Amino acid sequence: METKIVNPAELYRLPWTLPDNGISWLEPTARCNLNCYGCYRKNIKDSHKSMEQVKHELDVFQELRKTDCISIAGGEPLLYPNIVELVAEIKSRGLKPIINSNGIALTKELLHELKKAGVFGFTFHIDSKQGRGRGPKWEGKNELELNELRLYYAEMLAAEGGIACSFNSTVYGDTLHYVPELAAWAQKHIDIVHTMVFILFRYITPDLPYDFYAGDKKIVFDDIHYHSNKEEVTNLKAPQIVAEIRKKAHDFTPAAFLNGTHKADDFKWLLTERIGTKDKVFGYLNNKFIEMVMEVYHYKNNRYLSYASPRTLSMGKTTLLILWTINKSIRSALKKYLGYLAANPFRIFKKVYMQSIMIIQPVDFMPNGDQSMCDGCPDITVWKDKNGKDQLVWSCRLEEPMQYGEFLHTVPKSKEELKN
Ligand code: SF4
Repeated sequence: METKIVNPAELYRLPWTLPDNGISWLEPTARCNLNCYGCYRKNIKDSHKSMEQVKHELDVFQELRKTDCISIAGGEPLLYPNIVELVAEIKSRGLKPIINSNGIALTKELLHELKKAGVFGFTFHIDSKQGRGRGPKWEGKNELELNELRLYYAEMLAAEGGIACSFNSTVYGDTLHYVPELAAWAQKHIDIVHTMVFILFRYITPDLPYDFYAGDKKIVFDDIHYHSNKEEVTNLKAPQIVAEIRKKAHDFTPAAFLNGTHKADDFKWLLTERIGTKDKVFGYLNNKFIEMVMEVYHYKNNRYLSYASPRTLSMGKTTLLILWTINKSIRSALKKYLGYLAANPFRIFKKVYMQSIMIIQPVDFMPNGDQSMCDGCPDITVWKDKNGKDQLVWSCRLEEPMQYGEFLHTVPKSKEELKN
């Protein structure tokens, strides 16, 4: 049998479903202060929703779906004038507010206000195709040079204290080779960087062998928001990212995944959890560890875990010393940790942390034209359909119902069309 880079049989299928999930996605605004190349959403100037509207969307989530956190996204949520009030509102509902931001509008004062309001974490989207031309500092910087900016935000959060820090980075064909160094950078800052997310670039290009339809009306390719007429690599898959990371971290081992709606062995969300210090990884936690965490958390809280707190993630030593009796991957990490201590007993004073690496592989096209989405989409959002009914829809394709009143379906191009 062929050896797979990632074998679904060895992974835990994350338990997230439509009605019971770790995450839900709220967009208080579609306005942004950047224009990222890989963005799924149009930048709309006058698009701030009223507090009544966002409260209503929170009601819809709470009525239809168990959720652990609310990702406050957009647009750039820090441009939303009621952002502090919104964070407090989410917190008051017993949910974790996570702000998905490019960071530009974040000041220490605002961060402090948000902390007081109950923000649980930030996910900063930073990559080299965001057109960060404001001030020459980040213009034209590559992924590794941008680590200085990532560190700036991680340290800002750490100084405020008790806020989870994640980074999103879109991976393009020509930035794939930076991924091992980015993963290594995250490990070097395991004390203040809690999650690193690699999102595979997804756009449609003219060589895609499908036509797009709204009902029976064929859609002009150039009208679809996430299209590019440039030559682009649009078929990156999660196992490629794993293979890339392994060039530097040879034993990098994912533990859990979400499959595709149309393909059982597509790794739409692929989660790896590691345990270590800033200078050494002791091991990768396995499928059983994630299963145990998810099920215990659900039993206790009646919902699945999304983000863990910085405090929990800094309890690596306790995890090693208590859970080795019941989990094989922790036993093996503990062995490495004891070897590390034997070489220098003073290392006992170093903290041991846990850190997540997530790889997200968005929409895949099936040969018959079906589009395979994340099965149990965590980033689902609320959209009012043409009959005024609230629907939960994929945020990565929200532009479709907004522009055409419905999701587009794809049909394979005819042989004649492909010849032209
Ligand atoms: S289906 Fe789209 S919106 Fe949902 S998790 Fe996957 S990429 Fe995100």
